[in-house]
Formats: sequence, structure tokens, C-alpha cells
Amino acid sequence: MELYELNLSDAIQGLKDKKFSASELFASCKARIDKLEPEIHAFITRTDSTPPAETSGLLAGIPTVLKDNLCTKGLRTTAASKILGEWRPPYDATAWAKLKEAGAVLMGKVNMDEFAMGNTCGNSAFGPTRNPNDLSRVPGGSSGGSAAAVSAGYVPFSLGSDTGGSIRQPASFCGVYGLKPTYGMVSRYGLISYGSSLDQIGPFARTVKDLQLVMSVISGHDPMDSSSFRDKDHDFTHREDVSVKGKRVALVKEFQSFTLDAPIAEAMAKTRKVLEEEGAEIVEVSLPVVARYAVACYYALAMSEAHTNLERYDGVRLGYTVKDAAGIKEMFERVRSYGFGPEVKSRIIAGTCLTEPTRCEEYYVAATKVRTLIAQEFTRAFGECDFILQPASPSMPWKIGENDEDELKGYEADLYTLPVNLAGLPGLSFFAGYAGNLPVGLQLIGPRWSDPALLDTGVILERHLGSPKIANGGK
Ligand code: GLN
Repeated sequence: MELYELNLSDAIQGLKDKKFSASELFASCKARIDKLEPEIHAFITRTDSTPPAETSGLLAGIPTVLKDNLCTKGLRTTAASKILGEWRPPYDATAWAKLKEAGAVLMGKVNMDEFAMGNTCGNSAFGPTRNPNDLSRVPGGSSGGSAAAVSAGYVPFSLGSDTGGSIRQPASFCGVYGLKPTYGMVSRYGLISYGSSLDQIGPFARTVKDLQLVMSVISGHDPMDSSSFRDKDHDFTHREDVSVKGKRVALVKEFQSFTLDAPIAEAMAKTRKVLEEEGAEIVEVSLPVVARYAVACYYALAMSEAHTNLERYDGVRLGYTVKDAAGIKEMFERVRSYGFGPEVKSRIIAGTCLTEPTRCEEYYVAATKVRTLIAQEFTRAFGECDFILQPASPSMPWKIGENDEDELKGYEADLYTLPVNLAGLPGLSFFAGYAGNLPVGLQLIGPRWSDPALLDTGVILERHLGSPKIANGGK
């Protein structure tokens, strides 16, 4: 076994027992990256030129990568956009500062859809990333680079962000575990904003135990993010003696008539059986507003927030600029026309229309009301069940470029993930087996702050459904 193949907890143990050194682990991961990166293209910026100095802490000497919308002090952070140019943030994102403090070693910043808008990792100014399980297919997005890096064995864990599914969908496409934590569980300080009321940072790893380890490091209150939680700390300790006996796991009634790709439907049936055998009761909950309006509600809100958040990229304060413009208007025009890609531009325009004074009530404000109804619907549902089981995506990873023409179809593909962000809930994307060489992932959702319980259930699912293998480009 090569060192890059070790999952996070085994790598930590091996380093502790001095079976190998941090430099050896680093060298193994670096060689793996060198070998596969020309085909996978997960990186925007590599930083793996120097082996780690001796460090201490829970993650001492563990290589990792970060989605390129997480600020890294002095290191180029692009959000996969030309508009940020060679911007080097003057501070670290809190989640990264915590990993660094725990001894993690950064191998680089990885690809994503520009400003996290998309679900293919193809809306990047740096070109698309390929799915390590099948190089002709998308890795999912927007955190496609973070998922691909873990799946290909570059690093044992990574961080991404999830505004409407950007951790859970790529995790399921690449065959790794991914957690979108409860809104407020992880500080958003230093995360480049997309939709601030929806954005949340979370981990990718090849086992549930590894997600628990990373969550124990990155979660917690941060005075720099007033939306991060202030009450007690949450306990992410890994336990083997967990059970779902007597727990009620719900399927969503309205989703039952929606079409799923066959491997996903089969995985749903298999997972349901596993849960029943473990003593859980399978029930049904009804989420009519979610089923009918969540996609429209999400995109109205996400685009409205994005248009406000992206106002700051004006060529004056940070990132790409032009020096020879005839006036301020021409400068804004040239900077923003060149700097943003087509998807980002179309969302800024849509967001501007949705919040424009004469339409704001009818669209933006209406969407905020629908959002409240959606949150209430989930609260009611969680009165009748402990968790909800559903796909992370209705389809298996598609071929690169396949759905690019049909924007709406792309938006609708987020139906199973984005309601979770609208209600601020945690969602776990878990590995549920293979269909040929492609992994199949599903999703388990819980009430707010149930992240530890969700991961405990993930441990049981992993025991029955198996852990994913490191992907080799489909070879
Ligand atoms: N695909 C969704 C969007 O484009 C979600 C992206 C995300 O979670 N960042 O908005």
C-alpha cells in the first residue's frame, strides 16, 4: 500500500506511531498528484514544493487542499474567476486557520465553478476538472476540485463550500463523503461570498470517521462571523457503538414520482433496506412547497444575494483592473465584462432584475417568504422523523459539456440539495456503492444542529454499504 492511499485517521495514526514521516507522506501525495493531475486538472494553484516542517496538532503533517474561494493569506485566491486576477488575501479563512493550527499541510488551491455558481466545475476560468472515476465525465460542482482531489488520492481530506449542493453533489459524483454542515456550524469568515445566507464550508473525505475528525477541528463559534453559533460545542467524536434502532427515517412523498437514474433508485432501495435491518423505521413525510417551489426560490435568492456580493469587484479595490480607461464608467465596464464569465454575468443581471425596486416585492421578497414556508415545512417534517433519506442528485455524472446548453435543466438538477440550504440544515452525502466504475452517492438530512447524529448514522451506512476506493481515472 502506498502512503497516499491512507485515509485520514490511518495517516494520523501512522505518523503518530512513526511508521513513516510527514515528509514521506507528503512525497507520496505529491507523486500521486504529479501522475494524475495532467488528466484530472483539479488544481488552480499548487503549493507542494516544500515538505512540511515538524508540526504538532491533531492533523500534524496531513496534506490537504482547499477550494479556491477560501482565503489563504499571501497565496493567490481566485474563486476560479479572472476578476480576482492574482489577488492574494491579507488574511486566512478561519476554517483554514484552524486546520493550519492543527498542523495540516496545504498542497494547493483547487478548481470550482466561478464564484461557486454551477454544478459541473466547468464554469471555471481555469478550464474544467475531470471526474477521477471516468475522465470523460464531470466531477460535479461547484467544489469539483475538492471532491476530485480526495477521490483520486491526492489528499485524504479537503474543504469545499456548499450554497445549494456544492459539497454534496460532487461528493456523490466522485465517490467520497461530504458534509454540508448546519448553517452557522463552521465560520464563513474568509469564504468568498456567493449567497451569504446559504453558504457553508464543509469537508470531503473517504470515510465518515474522517469527516468527524475534520469537523472537530473546523466547527465552532468565531467572533469574526456573527452567524456562527455561540452555544455549546458540538461533539464530533467517532463512535463505533452507534445505532439507528427505533429512529424514523423518512422518504419524501412528493419526490417518489420524480425520475431518478436507475443506479440511484437502486441505491435508495438498498440503503432503505440497510436502515430497516438496523432497526430503523421507514416513514414518509410530505414536503409539497419544497417539491414545487424550492428550485425557483433558491435561484431567486442566490442570484439576488450574488448580485449584491459581487458588486465589490469593480477594479478599484481588489483583483483585475484596467489602467487606461477614459473614466470610471468605462473602467467598471471593461473590468466586469472581461473579468466575469458568462454564467456569473447572467446571474448578476438576473439578481439585479429580481431586486430592482419595482419588482423586489414580487420576486425577492416573495422568495424570502417561500423560504420561511420551506423552513417551516422541514420543522414539521422533523416532528415526524429523525432523518430524511434522498438522492444528492437525480442523475449520475454526465459527460463533460453534455448539459451546458440547457441552463434550466442544470438548475433543476439541484432539487435534492438546495432545499437543505434554504432551511439551514445539515446534509451528509454518503457513498452507496458502484454502478460499473461510477460511484453512486445519496444524501441524509437532519434537523438543525443534528450534524453529529447524522455522521453517527453515516458510520452505520458505511459499515453496510462499504467505503469508496481511490479512483484511477477509470482505468
Ligand atoms: N448549483 C448551485 C448553484 O449554482 C449550487 C452551487 C453551490 O452550492 N455553490 O447555485
